[in-house]
Amino acid sequence: NVPLQTPRPRLNGQRASMETFEGRLESFRDRQHPIDPERLARAGFYSTGEQDQVLCFRCGGGLKTWRPEEDPWEEHARHYPGCSFLQAEKGEEYVNSVQLRYPKGDH
Ligand SMILES: [Zn+2]
Repeated sequence: NVPLQTPRPRLNGQRASMETFEGRLESFRDRQHPIDPERLARAGFYSTGEQDQVLCFRCGGGLKTWRPEEDPWEEHARHYPGCSFLQAEKGEEYVNSVQLRYPKGDH
């Protein structure tokens, strides 16, 4: 046997349901989050169950330490511009415009 490098995320067994908006929204139930869970779920994110950490169901990109004024789609495009869900939902032009607003290395 080969040990897992990292512990399995708690929601791994439910990964399939995270492909739906309802499934992702459900993951935020009973959780405090600085961002409206509905907006996070629409942007492809679900809660990992740890603090305010979220993961994208498609690209697996994780984000945490959210500020209330942040936009889930914008953060998705800023940090994970190659995500196919993001590209399909928002289009290349949107992703490019976000990337232009946040030059690489400026965090
Ligand atoms: Zn993504």
